[in-house]
Amino acid sequence: MDSKTLREKYLRFFKKNGHKIIPSAPLVPAEDEQLEGKEKVLFTSAGMQPLIPYLTGQKEPISKRLVDVQKCLRTDDIEKVGDLVHHTFFEMMGNWSIGDYWKKEAITLSFEFLTEELEIPVNKLAVTVFAGDNDTPRDEESAKTWESYYSGKEHNWWPSGEKSGPCGPDTEMFYWTGEGESEGKPNEDVRWVEIWNDVFMQFNRKEDGALEDLPQKNVDTGMGLERTLAVLNGLDDDYRTDLFIPVIEIIERYTNKEYSDAENQEAMRVIADHMRAAVHLIIDGVQPSNKLQGYILRRLIRRSAVKMHKLNGGLTALPAFSAIVESIGSNKRDLAEEVVKNELNKFRDSLDRGLKQVEKIDRIDGKKAFDLYQTFGFPYEVTEELFRQKGQEIDREQFKAEFEKHRELSRTASSGMFKGGLADSSEIVTKYHTATHLLHQALRDILGPQVFQKGSNITAERLRFDFSFDKKMTNEEIIKTEDLINRKI
Ligand code: ATP
Ligand code: MG
Repeated sequence: MDSKTLREKYLRFFKKNGHKIIPSAPLVPAEDEQLEGKEKVLFTSAGMQPLIPYLTGQKEPISKRLVDVQKCLRTDDIEKVGDLVHHTFFEMMGNWSIGDYWKKEAITLSFEFLTEELEIPVNKLAVTVFAGDNDTPRDEESAKTWESYYSGKEHNWWPSGEKSGPCGPDTEMFYWTGEGESEGKPNEDVRWVEIWNDVFMQFNRKEDGALEDLPQKNVDTGMGLERTLAVLNGLDDDYRTDLFIPVIEIIERYTNKEYSDAENQEAMRVIADHMRAAVHLIIDGVQPSNKLQGYILRRLIRRSAVKMHKLNGGLTALPAFSAIVESIGSNKRDLAEEVVKNELNKFRDSLDRGLKQVEKIDRIDGKKAFDLYQTFGFPYEVTEELFRQKGQEIDREQFKAEFEKHRELSRTASSGMFKGGLADSSEIVTKYHTATHLLHQALRDILGPQVFQKGSNITAERLRFDFSFDKKMTNEEIIKTEDLINRKI
């Protein structure tokens, strides 16, 4: 089965069962949706995230049953990339009940999809269910529906830890990727690969830690496209599916090395994963920079460049990146290629010299790591990885202290040169300030949620507003934006 067929099967099955198909939200949530509790979320990391307002009852959904294929990015998993089943960018297929069906129907749907639509033999599957603890009883209802395994809150509870907000037990589904008869247990033996998770949002955890019943109970499920595709094709390696094969082949061609050779696998997987993530980030409006989403993008591209350099023993493989971007494809291929090329051009001269410098360093510390960042553009995490391979750890606090010290110095140097924000508080300046907010919102309404403020400067004569957008605005877009602001005024 190919990836396209799997996506279609999922959507069709849940549509047939009364679900409304909704499109994937962008990888970068709108600015006002980036705060989840006290934490800032940079990226959409699960299918449920864009649906929070519906799950919490703040907004009315178009249907109580929804299904989609959501693009996700998990920075927490960057260090896991290189194994067989974790990616930074991946697609999560999901179905939701928003105050509609509950455990029995959700599990039945999952089971039917796995065994009837995907025709997975039951003896290849295992499931786990929440075992109960001091503050929550064992999930008998799910267990009755599956005949099954039990485990503790470290596996069958969402979200992990004791965060306040909606939560509840979940039930996870695993596929046996080992040879012959299945053995051992999910969560203990890596040959059991988690493919799907049904979360039952049943409680609200209050600030004081106590649980109360939610007025509206929801089902939230997430099934990884890449892993499911691999196991359906009898593979234990996501990188051998049609989603990755073209990229791996390009890396092989340009480096003259084989993916089947175990010593190349980790690097090739990281490059393939990171470049796929980079392309999708660029498509969704992210540009490389030194902070937030832009920094993650920079880190993904530069880490790939370092890995490629090491695989290839030189810089000749850099044209491979254009071929990779091309093979990942999208409607914005040219943009992605240009952004990747620019970023690599910035890095290519210093990469070689930086790696030579790395060779010269006997003992890394935070200050030297900062020099590598400052002089050669090595993201901290890249340096950390290079030295970890030599058995050396860096003191991150020392790096941070160096970073802050430098920032203070450059801030002092530039203050007076570029005054940002509100220069004074005369009436006209206050009006311009309000106008920047109107402008920001209007740009997002007209151009899309990928637009973010990057800076602004106000004097008594005019305002300047910097924002991220990958193209020149058309005249029509400019007029629409002006009209919208004038209407609001
Ligand atoms: P794991 O324990 O394997 O990291 P998880 O518990 O973090 O998985 P969930 O948060 O429940 O996974 O996400 C739902 C589904 O999304 C998983 O069952 C899996 O199929 C898929 N998934 C999760 N993380 C990744 C990843 N980094 N790369 C690819 N697929 C993933
Ligand atoms: Mg995980």
